[in-house]
Amino acid sequence: MEPSDATYAVHGWVRTKRDTKSVCFFEVNDGSSLAGLQVTIDKAVVDLPDQITRLQTGCSVRATGRLVASPGKGQAVELLCESLEIVGASPAETYPLQKKRHSFEFLREIAHLRPRTNTFGAVARVRNVLSYAVHRFYQERDFVYLHTPIITASDAEGAGEMFRVTTLDLDGLARSGRPVDASLDFFGRATYLTVSGQLNAEIYAGALERVYTFGPTFRAENSNTTRHLAEFWMIEPEVAFCDLSCTMELARDFVVYLIRTALERADDDMAFFDTRIEPGITESLAAVADADFAHMTYTEAIDALEKSGATFAYPVEWGVDLQSEHEKYLTEEYVQGPVIVTDYPKQIKAFYMKQNDDGKTVRAMDVLVPRLGEIIGGSQREDDLDLLTERLRELGLDEKLYWWYLDLRRYGTVPHSGFGLGFERLIQYVTGMQNIRDVIPFPRTPGNADF
Ligand code: ATP
Ligand code: MN
Repeated sequence: MEPSDATYAVHGWVRTKRDTKSVCFFEVNDGSSLAGLQVTIDKAVVDLPDQITRLQTGCSVRATGRLVASPGKGQAVELLCESLEIVGASPAETYPLQKKRHSFEFLREIAHLRPRTNTFGAVARVRNVLSYAVHRFYQERDFVYLHTPIITASDAEGAGEMFRVTTLDLDGLARSGRPVDASLDFFGRATYLTVSGQLNAEIYAGALERVYTFGPTFRAENSNTTRHLAEFWMIEPEVAFCDLSCTMELARDFVVYLIRTALERADDDMAFFDTRIEPGITESLAAVADADFAHMTYTEAIDALEKSGATFAYPVEWGVDLQSEHEKYLTEEYVQGPVIVTDYPKQIKAFYMKQNDDGKTVRAMDVLVPRLGEIIGGSQREDDLDLLTERLRELGLDEKLYWWYLDLRRYGTVPHSGFGLGFERLIQYVTGMQNIRDVIPFPRTPGNADF
């Protein structure tokens, strides 16, 4: 902004106040950007003693005045105050957000006030910019945005980590000692919160070719890690006439697009993360956006891990699932950048993944990034009716439950692929925030559903 003779009005919340004999300075932030506006009350010019007394950190104000060149450092202009209204007071003795830096743990306990801090304001703005970018990316590529159900009867991942949805009187049943009868439940069967929209997305990819979902996902995994939430947002593209290498390319383009968008459209907030949260992050993200992603097969990854000489808490041998420590070694040490690992053993992956001719592996892919490990999981789907039926039987899954999924292979089947990107993992990756609880406004984790 430039100095000007026009009168401006600002409203927002006061971050800091400094009062001297002749002037009172305060900073107002309205959440539109990291930087607030300095407002100066020249006591020789305007007489506002009551307002100045009530003006405290955290209060909401409306101020008017002229923008003048600022003599102080840190800002080009400041508002020379002509009138000031304290809209909502904020008693300094009890306001939980004092000037000093609070720990993120403490701020989680006051999730109703944490968006008023620099860090959480910046996270919210980056999240917003990237949400919009998700839609832009797919809309520009002629994908159809698909809404998949939140309540579902199928366990897409077969991992059994689902939240039950019921209207049965569980307390009454427990008291009476009668068993739960799902056929008497609201939907006439057992239902759950979805762990993935993929199976439904496959239905629409089988007609519209390119679709994507972007919605909440629920997993009752009792893992208290810095990378897992019980409720998180996932983006799942699903593409017909697309094999594993086609979906690997889409995944790479998508991640790069999101990184570039954050650097370009949230540059002030990204500069903040660079100085205060993860030094060097903007430079390393810019480098990632310009490079190809490395690719290795699971078998090559196991080989690299075995030859690494590193000691892992979970020992490595062909057939084990990669743990976070293994993923981090591969991406941080071995490749030193993002890497796509493909062709995992079929025993550790979901039933729907396409089997390779070796009889041992499936066309799965995980995208691993430094600081986090897995950010994307995806695959080419099994499109052969016989192989898919056989696989369901092998795993003891009830074919009847999957009748419509099998129908897609019976009528006009095509090679198709897709993946899921965990939106909060992406925000962690882009901002450098260490704990996933701090990149979603209201985290749901074991034992915590406050706010
Ligand atoms: P992980 O091994 O890290 O638990 P996963 O293999 O269970 O992940 P997928 O089922 O492939 O993950 O889900 C796709 C993506 O969703 C993951 O790559 C990750 O980005 C994200 N994701 C999975 N589980 C969670 C969770 N509990 N909280 C937040 N994001 C998650
Ligand atoms: Mn998981």
